[in-house]
Amino acid sequence: MTIQALVQSQRDYFLSGETLDYRFRINQLRKLRSMLENYEKNIYRALKQDLNKSKYESFTTELGFLFNEIKHTEKHLKDWMEDESCDAPITHKGTKSFIRKEPYGVTLVISPWNYPLQLAIAPVIGAISAGNTVIIKPSEYSQSSSSLLAKMMRETFDPKYIAVVEGAKEVSEQLLQEKFDYIFFTGSTAVGKIIMREASKHLTPVTLELGGKSPAIIDRDANIELSAKRIVWGKFTNAGQTCVAPDFLYIHSKIKDKLLKEMKKQLKSLYKKNPLGNDDYVRIINENHFNRLLTYLENGTIVQGGNIDRNQLKIEPTIIDHITWNDPVMQEEIFGPILPVLSFEDLEEVIRTLKTMDKPLALYYFGEKEKNQEKVITKLSFGGGCINDTLYHLANPNLPFGGVGASGMGAYHGKYSFETFSHRKSILKQTTKFDLPLRYPGGKLAFSII
Ligand code: NAD
Repeated sequence: MTIQALVQSQRDYFLSGETLDYRFRINQLRKLRSMLENYEKNIYRALKQDLNKSKYESFTTELGFLFNEIKHTEKHLKDWMEDESCDAPITHKGTKSFIRKEPYGVTLVISPWNYPLQLAIAPVIGAISAGNTVIIKPSEYSQSSSSLLAKMMRETFDPKYIAVVEGAKEVSEQLLQEKFDYIFFTGSTAVGKIIMREASKHLTPVTLELGGKSPAIIDRDANIELSAKRIVWGKFTNAGQTCVAPDFLYIHSKIKDKLLKEMKKQLKSLYKKNPLGNDDYVRIINENHFNRLLTYLENGTIVQGGNIDRNQLKIEPTIIDHITWNDPVMQEEIFGPILPVLSFEDLEEVIRTLKTMDKPLALYYFGEKEKNQEKVITKLSFGGGCINDTLYHLANPNLPFGGVGASGMGAYHGKYSFETFSHRKSILKQTTKFDLPLRYPGGKLAFSII
């Protein structure tokens, strides 16, 4: 089937109204969950092939995450779908105002390679729950996961409802020629701009889940052991190929040496003495990214790691000290297991500097004083983040997940996914039992209606 025919078949199906019913949506979510359960072993195999992800990491960061999202959505969908009644001014006596949530229609999800199943399927949970049809374009770089996704979806859903179109940039471009009712994109900021430009041709609304350089600030009074452990975990999970991984550390100069020493200790306990020989340590997705990352190893002074294995495309968890803002490693998102370190004397100086940069997807602050925690949250703009932790905010389905400015627009997870894929239609129901004269010329009260 051509892309044009596929989109048309989804449009016809959507217009038939079958996807609207609550029961229908719940049944599709159940089918999706069973699909993931039935294919669990194949999923582990595909993620191992694409990224050398361990079973443990595949479950905690992909499958388990999806199971939680589905469960949460099943539990709350009925409530989310309810009309929301709204107050009205006295001038609207006799009326009822409410918001009806309606699906957009035919939607497109374009996803990246780093969490190839989670990032393709999590938006689909939102699209299903809101009553849309979906076409998914997964990444060409995570080939095993993308073709498994296509196979699983083909066997579970009719393509007029949910379909996977595999391929590279050219296929994305072809898809973007079609008119969609909503586009949900996860990927780089550069491609995000292209998606928005293409979507504007059809005035299609978009969510853009992008990347950027997410800082972790570690203040003088931070708990050294826990900060080190949580930073190391957040940075080196998936070998740093995580959109919300701490991209660089900004450490108070008085605790820098102590923290770096503790991080080395934590690294050993998480990845053992020789991470390159550790069967569960994630590899870099492809040679291009591997070579790009190697150039950063020439910056500053390596204080931990730095070894590589070209055959396996693995780079040791690496910490680089004596970095300046002018180093290449500080010019773009790293997206790999390399962690540059900057130091500071005063939190105000950190805030002043970060304010001049693009708004990051995440920001992490480690420190005990509530006054300083508040200062960071209030004075800096970023997608979301944690105080005294990394990554954990995105695993709470009650928190919206998304960027701001260069790190994206819109948000999802839990209820926010449902809302993202729903149009809020405003309805005012007027009474015919009486007619207030106020609005008509000659009415006793002057008031504004627009
Ligand atoms: P990418 O932007 O290169 O690719 C993402 C998707 O867009 C892929 O499916 C790809 O085939 C498609 N694509 C590529 N070029 C295109 C073009 N010119 N026109 C249309 N489609 C095109 O991103 P990536 O390398 O797969 O992923 C890494 C990036 O994604 C990082 O910047 C990371 O921070 C970001 N990311 C963000 C989130 C988030 O939730 N905000 C999550 C994961 C990754």
